[in-house]
Amino acid sequence: MKKIAILGSTGSIGTQTLEIVRENKDIEVLGLAAGSNIRLLEEQIREFKPRLVAVWEEEKAKELRVLAADLDVEIVSGMEGLIRVSVLEETEILVTAIVGMIGIRPTIEAVKAGKDIALANKETLVTAGHIIMPLAKERHVSILPVDSEHSAIFQALRGNEKKALHKILLTASGGPFRGKKQEELLNIRVEDALKHPNWSMGQKITIDSSTMVNKGLEVMEARWLFDVEIDQIQVVIQPQSMIHSMVEYKDGAVMAQLGTPDMKLPIQYALYYPQRRYLKGDRLDFWSIGRLDFERPDMDTFYALLLAYEAGREGGTLPTVFNAANELAVKMFLNREIKYLEITEIIEDCMRAHKNIENPALEEILTVEAEVYERIESRR
Ligand code: NAD
Ligand code: MG
Repeated sequence: MKKIAILGSTGSIGTQTLEIVRENKDIEVLGLAAGSNIRLLEEQIREFKPRLVAVWEEEKAKELRVLAADLDVEIVSGMEGLIRVSVLEETEILVTAIVGMIGIRPTIEAVKAGKDIALANKETLVTAGHIIMPLAKERHVSILPVDSEHSAIFQALRGNEKKALHKILLTASGGPFRGKKQEELLNIRVEDALKHPNWSMGQKITIDSSTMVNKGLEVMEARWLFDVEIDQIQVVIQPQSMIHSMVEYKDGAVMAQLGTPDMKLPIQYALYYPQRRYLKGDRLDFWSIGRLDFERPDMDTFYALLLAYEAGREGGTLPTVFNAANELAVKMFLNREIKYLEITEIIEDCMRAHKNIENPALEEILTVEAEVYERIESRR
């Protein structure tokens, strides 16, 4: 039995991870953590029987203790609880499917405790990749990508020498507003931005996909996962989301991974790597697909992608500013407090105001996050 724990078990990636567990029957779930959906957590505890469960708010944890009173499980809360789930003895893999840079401390502690990481939580790597990647190397820990593009790159890199890699071709669907210009985006409502053409995901990443912030975060994520320069990563729009990404080698050969858009494939691949297992679901039928399209991203309209390249190139605390500003701006947009285009405006404003700190320690990253939040709050 493989032993895992999941941060963010009630979310889109978390629940799909549990579907993989349910199908395969040879994974034991020792720990779960989630924000506030205690009804679903209760069901998950009954089905998967974890030893330890973390709920973010102590109030909700109390409620869950009542709901799960007949079960043999310890229920904890807060950052301390998240970290306890992350470092649980005997766990081999921690699935980081929590949303946002709140995942930094639990991820670092898990790596320190020697857990392999199945990483969905890209915000953590974007802001603290310079801490996590060297630490993982030192502790002989694998960081296994769950993000579909990064899983595709990881798969396309197998069997070839790392030094023969020339560039990464990171594919993007272009989101629901592909082809639109700024003036057509002025009055975008929350409901419009939540309609992704190909993928069903959590709210934050769905908004991020529509602004191309998600692709910007993925460029920075790829930089850390595959140890390449930012400018070795080229974004290619592939509207059908069938090519999940590609790599180009020095001799001009391009290797791609294709498949139907289904996150269960990269999740399962990360959990069983290097094994490939049967996965039920649709297969690509090239006779009926007929064609695949490619475009250059429109970085004038979706200039968050340009800002991400800038943040990635500069490094230091600038990626944290990019990410933290986006996290709060997206929350405000979802609460209908700001307009759609203000998301990227806020990111740019915070980046312009920031004095970069090179090679920041964890405390500095968290301080910069708080400063960015203060700046945005003070503008209201
Ligand atoms: P989601 O919103 O569906 O789920 C987020 C999970 O995190 C929930 O279980 C929630 O309870 C938990 N959470 C949030 N705040 C918490 C806190 N303070 N303490 C404990 N738990 C907390 O999000 P998602 O779409 O599953 O995305 C999760 C991560 O995976 C994100 O970083 C996202 O970018 C990445 N990702 C998602 C997809 C996808 O298809 N959904 C694809 C690639 C990458
Ligand atoms: Mg992705």
